[in-house]
Amino acid sequence: MLPGIKDRATATCQGCRYYALILGREENKPACLATLDLYLTGERQVPVELRAQDFIWLAGKEALTKAVEKVWPERQACGFFCPKI
Ligand code: SF4
Repeated sequence: MLPGIKDRATATCQGCRYYALILGREENKPACLATLDLYLTGERQVPVELRAQDFIWLAGKEALTKAVEKVWPERQACGFFCPKI
């Protein structure tokens, strides 16, 4: 087994560095920031929380919907998983 494969197999989105809480007006939802290139490439540090309006300003409403739909806190991590530092 390759190094890191076992960790990834048992990891969940909640342990991933791209997991962030999006703060909306009425509710907060987890989202995957790996959907945005500036976070995926490391150009910008992934925040713990991000206001929904700031996400929309960066990437638009469709991207926000995708980011929220991609993450499931209890789900097995995807191939982009990176452990939190
Ligand atoms: S969907 Fe993948 S990249 Fe996004 S938070 Fe979950 S494990 Fe990380």
